[in-house]
Amino acid sequence: RGLAASAPRPAYLVVNDVSKRFGDFTALKNVSLDVREGEFVCFLGPSGCGKTTLLRAIAGLDIQNSGTIHQAGRDISALPPEERDFGIVFQSYALFPNLSVRQNIAFGLENRGLKRADVAARVDELLHLIDLAAHGHKYPSQISGGQQQRVALARALAPSPGLILLDEPLSALDAKVRLHLRAELKQLQARLGVTTVMVTHDQDEALSIADRIVVMNMGVVEQVGTPQEVYDAPASQFVADFIGAMNFVEGVMLNPDEVMVGDLTLVLRRQAGAHAAGERVVVAIRPEDVRILGADAHAEWEHVNRVAVEVGAVEFLGSHIRASLLHPAFPAKPLVAQLSQTVARALQMVPGRRLDVVLPTERLRVFEALRPHGGH
Ligand code: ATP
Repeated sequence: RGLAASAPRPAYLVVNDVSKRFGDFTALKNVSLDVREGEFVCFLGPSGCGKTTLLRAIAGLDIQNSGTIHQAGRDISALPPEERDFGIVFQSYALFPNLSVRQNIAFGLENRGLKRADVAARVDELLHLIDLAAHGHKYPSQISGGQQQRVALARALAPSPGLILLDEPLSALDAKVRLHLRAELKQLQARLGVTTVMVTHDQDEALSIADRIVVMNMGVVEQVGTPQEVYDAPASQFVADFIGAMNFVEGVMLNPDEVMVGDLTLVLRRQAGAHAAGERVVVAIRPEDVRILGADAHAEWEHVNRVAVEVGAVEFLGSHIRASLLHPAFPAKPLVAQLSQTVARALQMVPGRRLDVVLPTERLRVFEALRPHGGH
């Protein structure tokens, strides 16, 4: 990712300690984050976590109860939407049905005192950008959902705002169109270099499109990081669970380097802020990180965290299979491993087969056990 290689760009949008209440319900609790110039940031979280409320606060459609928002160095905390500098696209395309594609795109330009010829030139440019040059005369009902959403994007981009806000812009589209438009949106954003914030509840979408992801839960920011960071080094059990698949099993710390899971002693890579001996924790590993011996010549020599298991259910997923692995140390839920078809075939992964797996030290993560009612 381009951003990682170069020095970080300056913060363009700065949200500082923002809280928002609706009656006695707190939708945002002390949210702070920044979005760098040209960056594509996704707000990701389950329904009701506050991501739309945060986007609306940035747009001025909702005003926070406390905290500040700065854009390009300007304090916009109390400004109405029309005095802020953004374009927005919603989940429902919200095009004007009685205006043509051209007129829809021109809409935001017409009250700006531009000459007609300049408006026409800008609309042509945008029609080319979204690859709809031949469709300018059509009405929204005459084009597909994906095309309508491209028009909505062009309309948002038309006045060249400093910031684009996208509220679940792809979620009303069917799967194939959504994937296509996702790639297109990413390319377009990178080409234009426009700072972009997108709300989504779809982890795959966020992982594939964002430079950085803000993971939210119950009005709180759980983690901000690149897709790789939130996937490889989730900051909490919530993040680990929400992004990607993860096995979780309860354990008790023996010392900072070892955890007891059932009758297994698992060796950990020492983590910063290690857990104290005797502490109850949750041990986590991703299904693709479970190494099946026989599949990997290296692993044959490994004895650390080697576990003898029995294959339970085997689930076919197209390019991959997912196998449930049974062991008394995982009584509540079997350990799930994901492996490629080729490897699964070579290993004859069938129910009842016994084999050894390795839980690689560097792939095991340990989290503080969540308290029963989901509190932090
Ligand atoms: P979704 O994907 O379902 O829209 P979200 O993460 O975007 O979820 P928000 O729309 O930000 O969530 O809502 C956060 C919480 O605030 C929800 O519990 C919602 O019911 C509540 N909420 C949002 N707007 C209002 C409002 N105008 N009045 C009362 N409660 C609200």
